[in-house]
Amino acid sequence: MSGRLAGKVAVVTGATSGIGEATARLFAREGASVVLAGRSSDRGETIAKELGDAARFIQTDVTHEDQIAALIDGAVAAFGRLDCLFNNAGGPTRGTLASVTEADFDHAMHLLVGSVVFGIKHAVRVMGEDGGSVINNSSIAAHRSAQGGYLYSAAKAAVSHLTHLAAVELGPRRIRVNAISPGAIATPIFWGGSAVASRLDAEDNARKQAKLERSLARATPLPRSGFGDDIAQAALYLASDEGSFVNGHDLVVDGGRVWAYSEAAP
Ligand code: NAD
Repeated sequence: MSGRLAGKVAVVTGATSGIGEATARLFAREGASVVLAGRSSDRGETIAKELGDAARFIQTDVTHEDQIAALIDGAVAAFGRLDCLFNNAGGPTRGTLASVTEADFDHAMHLLVGSVVFGIKHAVRVMGEDGGSVINNSSIAAHRSAQGGYLYSAAKAAVSHLTHLAAVELGPRRIRVNAISPGAIATPIFWGGSAVASRLDAEDNARKQAKLERSLARATPLPRSGFGDDIAQAALYLASDEGSFVNGHDLVVDGGRVWAYSEAAP
């Protein structure tokens, strides 16, 4: 198989929708063997089947360390090694500064921070002498206010800084750790996440997607919304040998939105 990821094995979490699905599809096109992780086995198995022999789906809830450990072990069992982990799974959080509860806090931290902490822990356990590439999906919400919920933004800031810490610690083992901070990317996360999207019919989802693309385009200096593929292309660079000297970087992919934001904006 030729391609920029030929011979590599990658795990993508949250691969049943949005950015993760686009990345799994692109990685497979670029020659990687890909393990798709997510909660929906129907959707995951369907995508894996479309991608062929070089793809597997492993049902995983990333809020549980034991399931992350089993995912990583399952990838090695299926394809013999691990070169790249894209810690992508995530979703909206609940609670404002005034209303936040312990349950909201636990949910946000397990989903957005724990998934990255334990993903790195278990990926590193199996990555060999060639090292590897870990990519953490952060957000421009990590860098500015009013780009996401209260806990969502704090959790993504933790993801961005965990990336720096892990990059320094793992560099000597040739394991590169980078983040991507997407801007406004038109995915179901804006209407409640993939679980909500799966309960709507195709027409409703298409209507929401079209409306979302129009509104995100208005809020982005480049006159369009972002798409899953925009982030997948950044992940491809970081996973590939072209990115082999990039470590501890947080790559903003947002059409310029992070610089355009101001407190006065509507
Ligand atoms: P999405 O809802 O389309 O996809 C999220 C994926 O994560 C889905 O497959 C979902 O099932 C999965 N997921 C959620 N909870 C999970 C769990 N507990 N265990 C396993 N999988 C789980 O949304 P998306 O926009 O593609 O989001 C992907 C990542 O990108 C998230 O981390 C999100 O925070 C981040 N992000 C998105 C945007 C954006 O504008 N869409 C911007 C910045 C960052």
